Amino acid sequence: MPRNVLISGANRGIGLEFVRQLLARGEHVVGACRHPGKATSLNALAGEYPGRLHVLPLDVAEAKSRASLVHDLPLVLGDAGRIDLLVNNAGVLHSGERFGHVEQATLEDSLRTNAVGPFLLAQALAPLLADGGRIANISSQLGSIGNTARFGTPSYDISKAAQNMASVLLARALEERGIVVLALHPGWVQTEMGGANAQVAPADAVAGLLRVIDAATPGQSGRFLDWRGESLPW
Ligand code: NDP
Repeated sequence: MPRNVLISGANRGIGLEFVRQLLARGEHVVGACRHPGKATSLNALAGEYPGRLHVLPLDVAEAKSRASLVHDLPLVLGDAGRIDLLVNNAGVLHSGERFGHVEQATLEDSLRTNAVGPFLLAQALAPLLADGGRIANISSQLGSIGNTARFGTPSYDISKAAQNMASVLLARALEERGIVVLALHPGWVQTEMGGANAQVAPADAVAGLLRVIDAATPGQSGRFLDWRGESLPW
């Protein structure tokens, strides 16, 4: 039976590739993004897969926008419809930060988008998640405290470390319902965020992430894994 999957930041990069691969294998997809009217590639996919891709607005950092999405989902899933997989993919990286010049606005924006938003979205969607379903929080190895060797992108790194804690707490909160929550590093991926030197094609990163998500057992809930299924240190 096709599953229902909700993906944030679905208009480009890794999120758009998730949409492509999930549609290709027959799932029902809700692609959420900030500006559906400008999401050319996503809307083209909606045309190719009529009735299987719904595009809804979501700014994950905004409480009102999250609430509207939660309100609108039953309209596209049906009242009895449940989400089998939530991919908290939307994220922001502010580059060019230097110690001594890190700004509150940048830190707060990173935390809102990368940690606060995904956590509160998952919390608000919990009643709509299928028992035994999955939450994939797209994290980054840059959020690994144990692996931190440089002062590079502090707002991003702090926010992804916070998101990792949120993933573990969600795993504990939802384990009674058999919902598996994973913090996932996609590799260094060729997207706008990953930049020109990135090593992994989005198609390979997402194929790997889907393998890890599909294979995950309840015993793995709350773990930090990369796109090849390797554990990362917190
Ligand atoms: P991109 O910069 O290519 O895409 C980011 C996506 O997030 C866009 O769809 C963007 O939407 C969306 N987004 C940003 N802010 C918000 C917001 N407030 N509300 C809703 N959507 C938002 O990045 P990637 O595809 O590479 O990254 C996807 C995820 O993977 C992120 O969480 C990132 O941290 C993570 N990641 C990426 C790595 C890489 O090498 N690329 C490495 C490790 C982790 P819009 O078009 O409106 O800006």
